[in-house]
Amino acid sequence: MDKKFIDKMERVLSAQKKEIVSALLADREEYKEIAGGLERPKDPVDYASDDIDRNLLEALGSAELKRLKGIDSAISRIKQGKYGNCIKCGQPIPKSRLEAMPSALMCIDCKSAEERKTR
Ligand SMILES: [Zn+2]
Repeated sequence: MDKKFIDKMERVLSAQKKEIVSALLADREEYKEIAGGLERPKDPVDYASDDIDRNLLEALGSAELKRLKGIDSAISRIKQGKYGNCIKCGQPIPKSRLEAMPSALMCIDCKSAEERKTR
């Protein structure tokens, strides 16, 4: 997996994370209360770059939480230098799949096997 591609994916992932967090900050009254109770109000950019705040996680809906966790896992895979390899079988995930879904952690085969199992 070349560095240029990984850099690009990291930017996409950070942007997606920022987007989710900003949307939450804009939409959720209950989150504004939590944010208002902080000593030092942070702007959404800080939230996106820091580890995700626990209070923020509690304010998230489960679908958003799942997305955010997926994005975070992908970012930590990038930091570990393992991004782009399937977490199950270790085979490289095709770039086309990563481009369509930057937070993908499994190749299509493993992912569909997983989905069959959980259904
Ligand atoms: Zn796999």
